[in-house]
This record gives sequence, structure tokens and C-alpha cells, in this order.
Amino acid sequence: MSKPADFLLSVESLGVSFDGFKAVDGFNFYLDRNRVHVIIGPNGAGKTTVLDLICGKTKATSGSIKFKDQEIRGLAEHKIVRAGIGRKFQNPSIYENLTVFENLEISHPKGRGVFGCLMFRRTEEVLGRIRAVAEDVALLELLDTEAGILSHGQKQWLEIGMLLMQDPELLMLDEPVAGMSVREREATAKLIKKISGQRSVIVIEHDMEFVKEIADRVTVMHLGKILAEGSMEHVQADPKVIEVYIGH
Ligand code: ADP
Ligand code: MG
Repeated sequence: MSKPADFLLSVESLGVSFDGFKAVDGFNFYLDRNRVHVIIGPNGAGKTTVLDLICGKTKATSGSIKFKDQEIRGLAEHKIVRAGIGRKFQNPSIYENLTVFENLEISHPKGRGVFGCLMFRRTEEVLGRIRAVAEDVALLELLDTEAGILSHGQKQWLEIGMLLMQDPELLMLDEPVAGMSVREREATAKLIKKISGQRSVIVIEHDMEFVKEIADRVTVMHLGKILAEGSMEHVQADPKVIEVYIGH
């Protein structure tokens, strides 16, 4: 298949087998800049594994993953992060004993994690970035609050903020609104729309109302393969999708 060369991410014939079981099989995926692309599908469809393959946590057995026309399949995870891909896992990994400010500060690429930050100068640039990110994730008023006492939703936003500190061109979020209240979901939808003004976001999600709100495009996965792809209206009306997913 011929395609324009300016995709942010282009994944072709991607596959991985675990002891002969094909968790992802012949997966093709093309993502433009400044888009929100949602992956849906039943449990075990292979959605999380696709993110694991893109971020280098799991090594693919076949196919190619190009980010800005560079092959990244096989690169170490930290190199993929440095190339501009940030990934949020299902459980938030924040430092509960540090403040919101400190969590954002240690996530700045000029900081060096928890220990390096002792020697790390709080430059104007870093302070400005922390404030801008805190505003994006609705935590500006809570910069001095210890992360451990944030609500579940605020912890999720803080982790998104920590990823935004690196200014990734591609952000991948695995079930970001699981366990959130309705209001937190609405706020998260706004947050994702806002941050996609400067980057693309891949989101895995089950909540159809939420998906409808944020998705520019939807891919439906089933048994490691793509079952349907297109606008939300298009995939929702697809009889195959209704049968294996939406109907349940
Ligand atoms: P989803 O996120 O769509 O619910 P996953 O990507 O987590 O699905 O899993 C897809 C399938 O691959 C499941 O059957 C899961 O058990 C299997 N799987 C995922 N990761 C591994 C692994 N590291 N080793 C063995 N099997 C795995
Ligand atoms: Mg999953």
C-alpha cells in the first residue's frame, strides 16, 4: 500500500507471539499529527500489547514501527521516550510523598529523576513549564499539595502532567478514565482535546460516551487484529463491531 510519508506514526504488519499465541497479528496503524485516535475492543483484544510494542516494553516478532519516518522497532525504551513518545500505564506511577510541584519538576528532561534533582537548578524555563503543565492538567492550585492526598482523578492527571513535562509528540494513555467520576471524565476529555493541539494522543478506552467526545478516529481490535476503523459513527454502525463488542 502506498502512503504519504508525513505520518507521525506508521505501524505496518506488526505482530507479537507469546508461546505461539498471536496477541497482535498483522496490525496496521497510521496516525497524523494533532489527532486523538482511540483504540477500543473487548478485554484481551491486544490493545495494551500494541502500546507495549510501540513504547518498546515488549519486542515485536514482526513488522515495522516508524515514528517520524524513523524505524523505532527494537530501540530501547528510554530511546523511544527520548524520540518523543510518552506512555501512561493503567496504574498511576507518581511519587505519593512528593508535592505536585516536585512530581512535575523531577519529570522535566533537565532533571535527572529523584536523586539528580537535588543538584538541579530551578531555572525560569523549568518553572514556566511546570506552571503551564499544571494549568493544562487542572492542578495549578494544588502545586504544593502532597500527591498522596489527591483524588484518584487528580492522580491520573498528575501522571499525564509528568509525561507532558517531556513535551512528547505522541502521548499514549491506557484507560485514563477508569475509576473516575462523571465530572472527572468530562474534565479529562477536555484535557485530552486541549493537549492534542500540540501533539497526537492514542487512547485505549471502554467508555463509549468518553470515546465519542474525544476521538478523531477509532480503531476496533479483536483477537489481535483490526476489526474496523474510522469515525465513531462508522465503527458503531458496523455489524461486526456490534456483535463482538458494543452489543455486550
Ligand atoms: P487488552 O489490553 O486488549 O485487554 P492485552 O493486550 O492486555 O489485551 O492482552 C492481549 C492478550 O495477550 C491476552 O490474551 C494476554 O493474556 C496476552 N498477553 C499480553 N501480554 C503478554 C505477555 N507479556 N506474555 C504472555 N501473554 C501476554
Ligand atoms: Mg488493556
